[in-house]
Amino acid sequence: MMRDFVHESRPGRVVFGVGARDRLAEEVERLGLRRLLVVCTPPQADLAAALTKPLGERVAGLHPHAEMHVPVAAAAVAVDRAREIGADGCLAVGGGSAVGLAKAVAKETGLPIVAVPTTYAGSEMTPVWGLTDATGKTTGRDPRVLPALVVYDPGLTVTLPAALSLTSGVNALAHSAEALYAPDVSPVISLIAAESVRALVSALPRVVASPGDLEARADALYGAWLAGTALGATTMSLHHKLCHVLGGAFDLPHAEVHTAVLPHVLAVNLPAAPQALAALRQALDAEDPAAHLFALSRDLGAEMSLARLGLPETGVDTVVSRVLAAPYANPVPVTETTLRRLLTAATAGTPPL
Ligand code: NAD
Repeated sequence: MMRDFVHESRPGRVVFGVGARDRLAEEVERLGLRRLLVVCTPPQADLAAALTKPLGERVAGLHPHAEMHVPVAAAAVAVDRAREIGADGCLAVGGGSAVGLAKAVAKETGLPIVAVPTTYAGSEMTPVWGLTDATGKTTGRDPRVLPALVVYDPGLTVTLPAALSLTSGVNALAHSAEALYAPDVSPVISLIAAESVRALVSALPRVVASPGDLEARADALYGAWLAGTALGATTMSLHHKLCHVLGGAFDLPHAEVHTAVLPHVLAVNLPAAPQALAALRQALDAEDPAAHLFALSRDLGAEMSLARLGLPETGVDTVVSRVLAAPYANPVPVTETTLRRLLTAATAGTPPL
């Protein structure tokens, strides 16, 4: 195949390592930020307070009200808070929900973001924001929401329960898998995506077996960083579209839905994406990547049935009509028949066809 691509490197500084949390204060100082609004989910309030304590007066307020999928009302409250305290930056501690709230603030105010991720979702490496209201989830791209600084400390992920570590890791793997067949993938991003899959599949069984294993945690977080980079650089296809609709319309848990859906989408798409198929075969050391990922996730304990994750019986019709309503890039044309077949298997939790 003739080489033909566009590659754009994105700005942003990444500091990675066990104990990197101790470098947060000097890194924030380096950026010259003096009045940070710290955002996190309610259960991570104590962690966020402890992590940012060394920043002293550079923390102007703690806002522990991040929620999954960033409801517009929650975003508005956080924006008001940032303005009230005269914030000059927003520091997110946590997973995609905390980073998502910081992005909502940055989108409105232009404030720079510092992210300290504690899951494998990868949002910290992307210029993509998302907001949810009663009609569903809207996403968009804005370079202002890409964090200026990301501090990755694998030590902060040891508390992520084994089950969520697994599904969050497969969520990351889904970014890399779809990047490999994205219409705008570049050779650099293909390498990053393949390396991310290798790192994640090697790490996840070790993380599940021993959530405190720092080496496994570092490998998984490294894979997640690469996956976030691949996600931020490419246009996602059917898998992300489906998960976006499922999450937005039925408030289903994000990482778990990704895990249940990914093998089915890969079974549909990979036959039409030979380069992605070859890269995944090599990275997973498996002839059939879709079947391999299904078995890996199931055997490590993931829930593979969308019905058991909360998709109501009538949900398939809603998802089919919403997915078909908005066109997007995909290696194979998405028909109603394909979608129904795929969703029926994912709803039941049976292996990909
Ligand atoms: P999350 O941020 O909601 O975290 C899940 C739960 O785990 C929360 O209750 C959180 O408090 C807890 N948690 C997080 N880290 C923990 C830790 N280390 N120890 C113990 N508990 C911990 O979930 P997520 O999967 O990270 O993010 C999902 C959200 O991110 C979705 O809304 C999704 O759409 C968004 N997302 C956006 C992008 C993007 O580029 N914009 C990319 C990926 C995900």
